Amino acid sequence: MSKSGLECLFNPSSVAVIGASPKKGKIGHDVLFNLKEYGFKGKIYPINPKDAEVMGEKCYPSVLDVKEDIDLAVFAIPAAAVIEVMKECGKKGIGSAIVITAGFKETGPEGKKLELELAAVAKEHNIRVLGPNCLGFISSTAHLNASFAAISPLPGDIAFFSQSGALCTAILDWAVKEKIGFSKFVSIGNKADISETDLLKSLGDDPDTKVILGYIEDVKDGKEFMRVAREVTAKKPVIICKAGGSKAGAKAASSHTGSLAGSDAAFDAAFAQTGIIRAETIEDLFDYAVAFSYQKLPQGPNLAIITNAGGPGIIAVDAVERSKYAKVASLSKETVDYLRGALPKTAALNNPVDVIGDADDQRYKIAVGSLLKDPGVDGLIVILTPQSSSKIKETADVLVSHRDGKPIFASFIGGKLVDKGVSILQDNKIPNYRFPERAISSFDIMVKHKNMTDLPKEAVKSFPADKARVKKIIDEAIKAGQKEIPEYTARDIIESYGFRIPKSTLAKDAAEAVAAASKTGYPVVMKIASPDILHKSDVGGVKVGLKDASQVEAAFNEMVKKAKAAVPNANILGVLIQEMAVGGKEVILGMTKDPQFGPMLMFGLGGIYVEVLKDVSFRIAPITPREAGEMIDSIKSVALLKGARGEKPADIDSIKEGLLRLSQMVTDFPMIKELDINPLKVFSAGDKGGSIAIDARISLDLEKK
Ligand code: ADP
Ligand code: MG
Repeated sequence: MSKSGLECLFNPSSVAVIGASPKKGKIGHDVLFNLKEYGFKGKIYPINPKDAEVMGEKCYPSVLDVKEDIDLAVFAIPAAAVIEVMKECGKKGIGSAIVITAGFKETGPEGKKLELELAAVAKEHNIRVLGPNCLGFISSTAHLNASFAAISPLPGDIAFFSQSGALCTAILDWAVKEKIGFSKFVSIGNKADISETDLLKSLGDDPDTKVILGYIEDVKDGKEFMRVAREVTAKKPVIICKAGGSKAGAKAASSHTGSLAGSDAAFDAAFAQTGIIRAETIEDLFDYAVAFSYQKLPQGPNLAIITNAGGPGIIAVDAVERSKYAKVASLSKETVDYLRGALPKTAALNNPVDVIGDADDQRYKIAVGSLLKDPGVDGLIVILTPQSSSKIKETADVLVSHRDGKPIFASFIGGKLVDKGVSILQDNKIPNYRFPERAISSFDIMVKHKNMTDLPKEAVKSFPADKARVKKIIDEAIKAGQKEIPEYTARDIIESYGFRIPKSTLAKDAAEAVAAASKTGYPVVMKIASPDILHKSDVGGVKVGLKDASQVEAAFNEMVKKAKAAVPNANILGVLIQEMAVGGKEVILGMTKDPQFGPMLMFGLGGIYVEVLKDVSFRIAPITPREAGEMIDSIKSVALLKGARGEKPADIDSIKEGLLRLSQMVTDFPMIKELDINPLKVFSAGDKGGSIAIDARISLDLEKK
């Protein structure tokens, strides 16, 4: 059976270097050099019409002149020639190509056209293409260095893919110094064909890869990316550094939710929902990478700390306490009793265990051995500051002799003196961190990952809904070219999906208003009803707590007058007379569309919490019940809902259900572009509970069916 396109890239039997050159410094030279130097075992075919031989290999004018099969073609020729040669590769039946050549999308509209053509030609000929505009591809397992990198990676079990080629070269150089090895190293360039999602999938299936790292600036297809990421993170950790905000987030949004969704909110949500670990910096990326690569996962959150200095021990404890998932382990009585007998009197025996400044390697050995045995300890951080009696190399050896069990993190703090110990740790794959805080955040991330993989899979829940009624309302709005659906219609839509809404009547004049109010029962709320007024309070269009007919009559006239003054051409349909909901807490539920991930839900507390503090959370729809719970739990002000200062807790389940119903609705109706339910009033769980949607507005995308 012939290999698939991606297999041809990952594990080729033969490689052609198109534009192979005998001239040092040319990319076509460096690629061929790297291929030979890194020990590729398959056949190598230099291709260029000018030379008979390059670097001792027979050179061919074209791939069509090679008799044997070729799996992979590496392009190091000018952009203008790429399309023609790609067609030849197609004729030759080559399965994959790496287009190192720049001069495509990154240069402007002309380049973009060329890139689309390249993608089309590759597709027509069934060739999977990496790039263009990339550094190339390296597989340490296949001894394949198909790149023009100046230095080759050490072997290892970390796979790295990057949308920035320059970052690739910097990381390669740095990683060699840190003795960090890679299974696969991929520069993805402009992603004309092979995307981050393709790589994620392949690397997820790659038995030589234990941890997947990525640097990305965008994703090609958000939904597919999430689907694949969910599968892969269940198998191995995926850590991604995402840079660069998409401009779409900055576009003028008419809804609250739209304006609060920064360009990064969708990525944060997608990563959280799929179990991708987000690294804020490149430094974090590799801090976490070595932790996962070198160690087993901790089985619990409890971290023990050994130190030979007070200050760094306290810093470490503080960092654990600040962390989200890690806990300071409490040591068993047996451990403490044993340490009391084995360590000097001045030693501190409770976590952190201070073996005192004059500790040699033997003292560390006693502490490390006994703490790792303690069933209450899930991981260990060993801090060493260089003192006159420190045995730095020997202490490193102690840690090495204890590896392969519970995870151990070293933090040998210093420079010149500790380097000889650090070198032993690097050689033996004990992660060492310059400062304890970084070790602790790496442990914390491992615990988070472990917790995530332990969670059972959960399906999206669906509720009975009157879809036909919503369809009818939306169809009518679209037919009328009405982009904005204000409260008096939006309430019908959300009611069809099970939201409770206050009783309302539209009154066209003051007399109707008074009649409606007495039918509704005092006190009532009055709201201006106009398709041209979306933020009613802004134009004096909301009055609450009206107690009698005279108040209602006066309010009607005043409200219509004010609205006309504020929006002179507004089509005013009248005033809604609404049942007043008393008590409860105001929260906001919303949705906005992300260009890469689609409908994204928002949750926050109403009032200043959303307006001033922007304390909101996002998830990509559709969401599961657990994700709805996470949305609520991840806002900072959640304590106010759970009943702070003796208040009764709000009915959180009702909010959760609201989020799930909303998720279902926006998934059913892709033409809904933005939506705010602001506020949803939530009552306390102790009383009758439940919630009521006091206000809603919806924007439609008229183009979408
Ligand atoms: P808008 O957001 O367009 O200004 P709302 O309908 O949200 O108008 O009303 C503004 C505020 O008035 C709400 O946030 C809520 O505090 C209060 N309010 C509105 N309607 C009611 C109601 N039926 N019961 C209780 N309070 C209400
Ligand atoms: Mg409102």
